[in-house]
Amino acid sequence: MIVAGSGAGAMAGALAAAANGLRTVVLEKTPLLGGTSAYSGAAIWLPGSQVQERDGAGDSTESARTYLKALLGEENAEHRETFLATAPEVVAFLEDDPAIEFKYQPFPDYFNAPGRLDMGRSFIPRALPRERIGELAALVRPPVDRDRAGLGHDPEAPLVQGRALIGRLLLALTATGNAVVRTGTALTGLVVEDGRVVGVEAEGPDGPVRVRAERGVLLAAGGFERDAATREAHGVPGSAEWTMAPAGSNTGGAIAAAAGIGAATGLMDQGWWCPGTATPDGGAAFTLGFRGGLIVDAAGNRFANESLPYDQMGRKMAEAPGRVPAHLIFDSRSGGLPAITVPPSVPEEHLAAGTWVQADTLAELAGKLGLPADALTATVERFNAFAEKGVDEDFHRGEDAYDRFFAAGKGPNPALVPVDQAPYYAAKIVLSDLGTKGGLQTDPDGRVLDTGGAPIPGLYASGNSSASFTGPYYPGPGIPIGTAMVFAYRAVQHMQGEGR
Ligand SMILES: Cc1cc2nc3c(=O)[nH]c(=O)nc-3n(C[C@H](O)[C@H](O)[C@H](O)COP(=O)(O)OP(=O)(O)OC[C@H]3O[C@@H](n4cnc5c(N)ncnc54)[C@H](O)[C@@H]3O)c2cc1C
Repeated sequence: MIVAGSGAGAMAGALAAAANGLRTVVLEKTPLLGGTSAYSGAAIWLPGSQVQERDGAGDSTESARTYLKALLGEENAEHRETFLATAPEVVAFLEDDPAIEFKYQPFPDYFNAPGRLDMGRSFIPRALPRERIGELAALVRPPVDRDRAGLGHDPEAPLVQGRALIGRLLLALTATGNAVVRTGTALTGLVVEDGRVVGVEAEGPDGPVRVRAERGVLLAAGGFERDAATREAHGVPGSAEWTMAPAGSNTGGAIAAAAGIGAATGLMDQGWWCPGTATPDGGAAFTLGFRGGLIVDAAGNRFANESLPYDQMGRKMAEAPGRVPAHLIFDSRSGGLPAITVPPSVPEEHLAAGTWVQADTLAELAGKLGLPADALTATVERFNAFAEKGVDEDFHRGEDAYDRFFAAGKGPNPALVPVDQAPYYAAKIVLSDLGTKGGLQTDPDGRVLDTGGAPIPGLYASGNSSASFTGPYYPGPGIPIGTAMVFAYRAVQHMQGEGR
């Protein structure tokens, strides 16, 4: 079988195939493995598994079902049930491999809905010591800051988060002896014989190649977030420059190849959104976990609870004009940006580039930003009064478990920290994303469907190459990776059951 892409879904699918004796070829377009998955925190939302049970998370398949049903209703109920039924099996399969170990990590689910766990149900891979992965580390995409700077991994540090996940999957895959991994090789087309996909066309370092696949082709090659024209064609808010996907990675090649042989697509205007701190190079840094400050639009007004889970905040930004760019207004008490950014923010670089500005008064700050000074001052004063009272009368910041998870204020509401200590700062906030989430329509076995709703024999998709069954929702940390892994695993099971 052939897998296009090398993110978490691709690698889990490749491992499932190779571990069960299928000769497996992984084709990765860029020189490095892991895509956005390698950049990620590698939180994995696979409910009801042995990890939550072992680590005492209080999770169950039933509570996860209640939660997903509360958000999604009966939309994609078959996918939901397949996901819930398969998640524990995928985790057991992965942890059966000596290279793969997970641990529960508290991180709240993103919606206040029945079945939610306030400390969440996701888990992460354990850090991967350098001596364990050895030279294979050089194949794994480094963290965002080092990768964007053209650096490899820190030679002293273990691989953590997304790098640990991809590194562990790579170790396990290599140990099967059944897999070939080709980097620098992009899938460009699908080979169809008698209505069945029997292989791929790809562009490799030595020119075009054709690879045959007896059992099937799994498209797990990300979305089209890095392609400005396709984004525009489908009206995806944000921009190809502000996406978090690695440069040169996800331009929708696999989706286009499948659409070219009659596959149906869906959710093409959707993404996994987030606020992005504009970076000096014209890109963005995924920004979450606000501990202070307030975000204003072009009129100097707040428009949302800044502590909202990032996808919901991104959607608020996209909802009305004047919110992109927005500005995070903060003061000197924070000692830097009062939020987490990936990659980390270096204040001096931002101030030199003008992506952050500094001023002694709010009126001066407004002047530098081109915002109405009266409005900005009034907004901050109103916000400070809320902080003193402990109640955000406008947007209810600090009322939800997710808001409080990151909050560190000392006042009556730890999510409301006054902004009143000069000098004042403003960071430019753009609409970023962790990837698009529209793509190929699939059935619960990951089979790609044609425009008439029938499966295309031999063709499967998962992750951001497929239309997510979560629709416009991002239910909790680890949904993109968790769902990518489950449907890649299902695809491989189907390939093995079906044969040819
Ligand atoms: C900083 C950060 C933190 C995040 N944290 C989390 C988290 O904790 N949990 C979570 O679930 N999600 C997280 N996400 C989101 C998540 O990483 C992505 O949505 C998810 O990994 C996408 O997986 P994917 O396999 O679809 O794509 P990717 O992981 O991007 O993999 C796609 C791969 O396919 C390759 N490719 C593209 N086109 C082709 C082609 N034509 N032929 C061959 N290869 C091709 C790309 O180069 C890339 O390597 C985070 C994202 C970021 C940026």
